[in-house]
This record gives sequence, structure tokens and C-alpha cells, in this order.
Amino acid sequence: MIHDDVEEVLLTDAQIRTRVAELGAQLSQDFDGRDPVLVSVLKGSIIFLADLVRAMEIPLSVDLMEVSSYGASTESSGQVRILKDLSRPIEGRHVVVVEDIIDTGLTLNYLLRYLRDKGPASLGICCLLDKPARRLAPIEIDYRGFTIPDRFVIGYGLDYDERYRNLPYIGVLRPSVYGASAAPE
Ligand code: 5GP
Repeated sequence: MIHDDVEEVLLTDAQIRTRVAELGAQLSQDFDGRDPVLVSVLKGSIIFLADLVRAMEIPLSVDLMEVSSYGASTESSGQVRILKDLSRPIEGRHVVVVEDIIDTGLTLNYLLRYLRDKGPASLGICCLLDKPARRLAPIEIDYRGFTIPDRFVIGYGLDYDERYRNLPYIGVLRPSVYGASAAPE
């Protein structure tokens, strides 16, 4: 069972459900009458996005992007490759980027510049998890689920080697799972 590989539960499914409902209510209030586009990044954010939109009661659209880092040597530059672009223009629209976790902030920093160039009416950020300890690019987060310590977490969409996305809670992986190698970053 996947649960056996979890060393510690950081956030229970009940805690997540309560907080996501609060975020949804806040977004509904702030974007009432603005027909926002929620832009999410595959794959880690899909479970958060699915729950968040169902906690919102205003008209909205959803779009999805997929990005990948160029590789270790350029990672620190925050250069990312766009594997899947937006399906509709966002010019003049109120855009909220929905992210699973913000760690160094480099991926999001790149993405924000990319989206800003497309001329949205506004560009906000909603993240479930904020891991500020390793931040390299300053990011102003408008809606934050939880601030977490500098630990590698899995579950609720977040993976380790494509596994554990289906855990209903956020947990820390048992070190024995990644064996002798260093903790994933
Ligand atoms: P950043 O560019 O902010 O360093 O990285 C953001 C991305 O790195 C996230 O969208 C996520 O895919 C991955 N990431 C960062 N921290 C973690 C973590 O603790 N667990 C998992 N599973 N992925 C993480």
C-alpha cells in the first residue's frame, strides 16, 4: 500500500478540504463578475485545481499548461520549456495561476513573465503549499493554502517519480523509499 511509504502526515485530507473551501470562497468573492481563467500547471496541480474549482460558485474557465525544466545546467536560470501551451488567448482576462507548491519559485517566475506578455487584465497566484525556505525568485503569493517546512512532500497531486499523486493527504516520504540516494529536491 502506498500509505506504508509515508513517514509522516503533514496535512490531513480534512485540513486540506477545509482550507481549499476557504480559498475557493475567497476567490469567488474577489473575482465575482470578472469571469476569471484559472491556469494550472500539469501534473502536480490537477487535484488541487479540481477541488478548488468545485469550491467556487462563480462563472470561470480553466486552462492547463505543461512545462519542463531544460535540465540541471540551466535550472538555476529558471528557463523552462513549454510542452503544452494555453488553449485560448488570455488577453484582457483575469488570470489566476493555480500551483501545487512553490519551492525555489523559478518555474513560476518564468511562467509569470510568459503570461504577463500575453496581456491579461490581471495576474494572480494561488498556491496550495508555500515552501519559503528555498526561495530563489521573489514571488508575491495572493492566495496561499499552507506554509510548510523544507521537506520533500508527496500526495494530493504531488509525486515522487510519478508515484503517490493519489494519496488523499500531504505526507513526507520514508527515506528507505529513495534508498541510498539523497532526498529528492
Ligand atoms: P520551483 O520552481 O518553485 O522550485 O519548483 C516547483 C515545482 O517543483 C513544483 O511544481 C513541483 O513539481 C516541484 N516540487 C517542489 N517541491 C516539491 C516537493 O516537496 N514535493 C514534490 N513532489 N514536488 C516538489
